[in-house]
Amino acid sequence: MIGSLDSKVPSGPIESKWEKHKFESKLINPANKRKYEIIVVGSGLAGAAAASSLADLGYKVKCFCYQDSPRRAHSIAAQGGINAAKNYQGDGDSVHRLFYDTVKGGDFRAREGNVHRLAEVSANIIDQCVALGVPFAREYGGLLGNRSFGGAQVSRTFYARGQTGQQLLLGAYSSLSRTIAQGGVQMFPRTEMLDLVVVDGHAKGIVVRDMVSGEIFSHAADAVILATGGYGNVFYLSTNAKGCNVTAAYRAYKKGALFANPCFTQIHPTCIPVSGDYQSKLTLMSESLRNDGRCWAPKKKGDKRAPHEISEDERDYYLERMYPAFGNLAPRDIASRAAKTVCDEGRGVGPSGFGTYLDFADSIKRLGEPMIKERYNNLFDMYHQITSENAYKTPMRVYPAVHYTMGGLWVDYNLMSNLPGLHVLGEANFSDHGANRLGASALMQGLADGFFVIPTTIANYLATQSPGSRPKTDHPEFQKAEEENRAQTNKLLAIKGRKSVDSFHRELGLLMWDMCGMARSEKSLTRAIARIPTLREEFWGNVNVPGSGESLNMALEKAGRVADFLEFGELMCLDALARNESCGGHFREEFQYTAKDPEVQKGIVCEGDVKRDDTNFCHVAAWESTGDPSKPVRNIEPLVYETVHPAVRSYR
Ligand SMILES: Cc1cc2nc3c(=O)[nH]c(=O)nc-3n(C[C@H](O)[C@H](O)[C@H](O)COP(=O)(O)OP(=O)(O)OC[C@H]3O[C@@H](n4cnc5c(N)ncnc54)[C@H](O)[C@@H]3O)c2cc1C
Repeated sequence: MIGSLDSKVPSGPIESKWEKHKFESKLINPANKRKYEIIVVGSGLAGAAAASSLADLGYKVKCFCYQDSPRRAHSIAAQGGINAAKNYQGDGDSVHRLFYDTVKGGDFRAREGNVHRLAEVSANIIDQCVALGVPFAREYGGLLGNRSFGGAQVSRTFYARGQTGQQLLLGAYSSLSRTIAQGGVQMFPRTEMLDLVVVDGHAKGIVVRDMVSGEIFSHAADAVILATGGYGNVFYLSTNAKGCNVTAAYRAYKKGALFANPCFTQIHPTCIPVSGDYQSKLTLMSESLRNDGRCWAPKKKGDKRAPHEISEDERDYYLERMYPAFGNLAPRDIASRAAKTVCDEGRGVGPSGFGTYLDFADSIKRLGEPMIKERYNNLFDMYHQITSENAYKTPMRVYPAVHYTMGGLWVDYNLMSNLPGLHVLGEANFSDHGANRLGASALMQGLADGFFVIPTTIANYLATQSPGSRPKTDHPEFQKAEEENRAQTNKLLAIKGRKSVDSFHRELGLLMWDMCGMARSEKSLTRAIARIPTLREEFWGNVNVPGSGESLNMALEKAGRVADFLEFGELMCLDALARNESCGGHFREEFQYTAKDPEVQKGIVCEGDVKRDDTNFCHVAAWESTGDPSKPVRNIEPLVYETVHPAVRSYR
C-alpha cells in the first residue's frame, strides 16, 4: 500500500497557484540541460508538443511512436475543435468559467488546481498554434471563429472544419520536425515500448521492439515521459484508431506506477451505429454537429416509418425536452444515456433499433446548405461513404460508442507519477477531466501538458538528479527487463493455438461493453470479474500468433496488446465495482435519481440521472499492482474543493 498520495497542488488562491508554482519551480542552467536525456513515448499532440518544447529548451530528447510517421498518431483523427477561454465572442466566457464548466462537466471528480491551470493556459495554446500555422476557421472579417461544444453555454471552441486534430497535429509535427532537423530530438518511428525500466525506484529507461526488424533492446534516460494516449480499445469497438492500446501505461503500472480511475470511460452520443458482428471499428460524428443538428426519435414505440413520414408532433426531440437549458449540447455522458433510454424504450431507429436521428433540416432551412457544407462537409462526406446516405437530405442515424478514457496513470501537479522520473501527459494521464470529459477539452489538455506544463515542471525532478548520472543500458535492471520481454514474445509465438488474437479481443470487448459499458451494476461487474481470468487463461493456452519475432508481425504486436487488455479489463471492472456511486460516465444502475427524489420533483435533474455520493467517493481511486491482476490495492487521493463547491450537476 502506497499510503498517502501527495498531489503537490500549491497552496494559495486558485488564480495564483500556477504562477506561484512556476516561480518556485527549479531552473536548470543551459549548460546542464544539454547533459540530460529525456525519453518521450508518443508523438500525438501531447508527445510532439513535449518533445519539441523540451528540445527547444536544450534537453536531449528521444521520441518514440509505433506508427511509420509521428504525424499518424491518433490525435490526427480529432474532428470538432479545441476549447480556449479567449472570450472572442464576448458572450460571458472567462478563465474561471472554463475552469468551472470543466470541473462541473467532470461531475466534481477532477482535481481543481490542475483544471484551473488548464483553463489559464488554454488561451496561449491558440496563439501558439496560430504561430505554427494552424489554419483555424475564421469569420468573414478575418478573426478566429468559434462554435459551441457540450456542457457549455458560451462559444469557446476553435476549429478547422471537422479536421481540427489533423491541422493541430500537423502544427505540432512541424515543430517536432524542426527540432529533429536541428538535432534536439532523435525520432524512433515504428518502435514499440514494451516495458519501463526502474532503477533504484526511479524510471530510467524503456525496453522497445523495433517493429520492422523485431529486435528488442533498451534506451536509458534521466527521465521518461509517457504520452501514449487512451485505452478505449479495451472495448474492441470504439472510435479510437485501431492501434490505440494500454500497453505502455499498463506495463508502467506493473512496474509500480498507480493507475487512477480506470473505470472512467467516455461514451460519445453520436457515432455511426454498429452494423454487423465483424465490424472492427466505429466512426464518430463530431459533437460540433450538435451546434446545428437536432437529436430526435419517434414518440411511438416500434415506429418503422422513414423519417420524412414522421410529422413534427410525432417526434421527440429528447435532449431539448429533458435538458432545456443545454438542449442538444448537453454533455456527452448525459446525451448518451438519454439516447440509450430512448432505444431501450423501443423507440430506436435503423435496422438494429439502436439509433436515433441527428437532423439538420432546420439549420439547412435557416442557414442554407452551403453554410452547413462549409462547417461540416468532411463529416457529411464520411457519413455518406460509410452509410451511402445523404445527410443533407435525410437525418444521420447515430448511437453512443466508446470514445475516450478519463482514467489513466496517476500524476501529481508536476505531471509526475508516483514513480520518480516517470511523467505522464495527455490522454494517458488521469488528471483533468474527472468522471466525464467535455468535448474539445482533450486537444486542449494534450497541448497544455506538452507545450506549457511539462517544460517547467520536469525541472523539479531533473534538479534532484546529477547531470550525467543516468544508468547505462548494461545495468542489470535493463538486462532483466529485456530478457523478460524476449521471453514473453517467445511464449506468445510458441502457443500455436486455434483462435486468432482478434477473436479474444472481440470477446473481451463485448463482455466489457455489456458488463462495464454505458451502464454497470454490481451483478454485471461481478460476472465480468469472474469471466475475465478464464478468458485470459484461454488466451494463453489457445491463441494463435503466426509468423516469427524477427520481422514485421502485426499479429504479434496485437497479441502483446490484447494480453494487457485481458488484465486491464479486470482492473476496470474492479474499479467500477468499488465505486458505489454514479458519476459522469460511470453509471452504476443502483445509484440513480428516481421520481421520489426531491431533486427530480424540483426539476433540477431528470429521473435516471447519475447520483453521486460525495461523502464516501469524493476521491481519486489510484490502483497499485501487486503482481496478481485480480488483487490490486486501492489507494485514495481525497479531492479537496476550495473554490468550486460540489453540487447536484444540473443541465436543465
Ligand atoms: C474520432 C475522435 C475524434 C476526436 N475529436 C476530438 C475533438 O474534436 N476535440 C478534442 O479535444 N478531442 C477529440 N478527441 C480526443 C483526442 O483526439 C485525444 O484524446 C487526443 O488526441 C490524445 O492525444 P495524445 O497525444 O494524448 O495521444 P495520441 O494522439 O493517441 O498519441 C499516442 C502516441 O503514443 C504512441 N504510443 C502509444 N503506445 C506506444 C507504445 N507502446 N510504444 C510506442 N509508442 C506508443 C503512439 O504511436 C502515438 O504517437 C477525439 C478522439 C477521437 C477518437
